[in-house]
This record gives sequence, C-alpha cells and structure tokens, in this order.
Amino acid sequence: MTAPGLPRALETLDDIEKKISGRTPAFFLDFDGTVSPISAHPDLAVMPAGTAKVLDVLTRDHVVCLVSGRDLTDLRRKVDIPGVYYAGDHGYRIAGPAGSGVELEVGGQQERLELESASYELERRLRSIAGVVVETKGTSLSVHYRLVAENERPAVDRTVREVADSAPSLRLTGGKLVHELRPRLPWDKGRAVLWLMGRLRLHHADSCPICIGDDLTDEDMFVAVRRWGVSILVGRSDRPTSAQYWVEDPQEVTALLTTFAGGKVIKGRE
Ligand SMILES: [Mg+2]
Repeated sequence: MTAPGLPRALETLDDIEKKISGRTPAFFLDFDGTVSPISAHPDLAVMPAGTAKVLDVLTRDHVVCLVSGRDLTDLRRKVDIPGVYYAGDHGYRIAGPAGSGVELEVGGQQERLELESASYELERRLRSIAGVVVETKGTSLSVHYRLVAENERPAVDRTVREVADSAPSLRLTGGKLVHELRPRLPWDKGRAVLWLMGRLRLHHADSCPICIGDDLTDEDMFVAVRRWGVSILVGRSDRPTSAQYWVEDPQEVTALLTTFAGGKVIKGRE
C-alpha cells in the first residue's frame, strides 16, 4: 500500500481554504476508519474522546453529518453528540437532530422481506465458520469476515454470492473485509449527501461540503461533491480514487477537523 498521488490535506490547508472560498463548510464524515480507528469487531469501535469533542465544537456552527454503513440506531449510539445529523445504512436512512424534522428512509417492503430472508439464510449457512459476523441493519446487511481464517474465506464468499443471487431486489457490494447487501435502488452515500444538502437548503453559492472517508463506498461522496466541495481520502491505498486530498489515518482526520474548528480555515454560519 502506498500513499495516493494526491496532496496531503494537512500540508495544503491554503489550497483547501481557496476551494472553500469563504463559503460555510458542511461536514460529511464516515465513521469506521475515519473518525474512529478500525477495530477487530464492529461493536468494539469507539470514537476517541478528543475527536468527539472537536465534532461537538463543529456542530455549534456547522452542519456535521456522520455517513456510515452502520445501522442508524447503532451509529447514533456510537456518536451520541447533540446536533449531529446521521446517515446510516450507507445513507439509506437519514435522521437529523431532535426537532429538526429531517428524516428519510429509502427502500420498500420487497427489499425488506428479501433482507430478512437473506439474513436468516446467511446466519444459518455461515454458523459453522468461526469469526463470521452477520450484521442485519434496517435497510441493509453486512457480513464481516475480518476474523475468519484465510482458508475459510472462499466459502464465505461463495455462500454470500449464492444468497445474493436469490434476492433479486438486493445488490451485493463490498468494502474492507466485508460483504454488503443493500436495496438495488439507485442510492448511495453520495446521493445521501446531496439529499441532505438539498433538504437543509445548503446551496453551492454559500455552502461547501467537505467529505471525508476511507472506504470504497465513500467514493460516491467524493464524486458527488467533486466540482464544488472538498473530498479527502483516509489512508494509503493503491486503488483509484476521486478524492482531491488525503490524510494518513483517523488521527490526522481529527487534527484536520481541529484546524477547522479553530477557525483557521473557515468561518461559521452567520
Ligand atoms: Mg470507513
């Protein structure tokens, strides 16, 4: 793994400031591997106290939305900062802070039925393989295999593909050591960002989306804001990316957000 051929965000703050050009930033942040270090089991992931504090400061003057593959309820519990917006299940479910009236759920009855049945099938067929974690969320499902022995992973892949084949309303995607099934509707993290910007009337002329993420699904956010926002990839990777900048790890994400919160790069909402 090498550093992507992109400018490093912390070394090009002037350039980022130019891109923001006096507009008010709105932050769209992935959770795992971005504001929280990757952990062996999704349940164990914890956002460092310092990061939570910075997000808390940012929410006072800016829209801050956590955009994650995690279930909405789980994501909300993990972050638990008043004023934060949440886009869970890769953006299929969006909820604003209490009283904001912001809410969205993408997907219908057929998708839900197929997810339930796929979840049951996967639990049943993968029970004998140690380390598999099947996580069923409101509108999607994840099969984590980080803890599965190398020689058993092909069996996990095969089973997931077979189950996906029998669920025509769902599509199979993947991330870092995870398979995912979600509704075959044209929706992703990028559309979630654009939906929320529209819902909150954040216009190109005076708002600048800043999207930060480490995974393949975050690329949809990067593409969505490419022409008028700022996109930052977390981590070293050889894969092609649509991001404009990169940072090394979640610690650097926190350092970057701290710079923003300190008002060095941006101004708050008036
Ligand atoms: Mg991530």
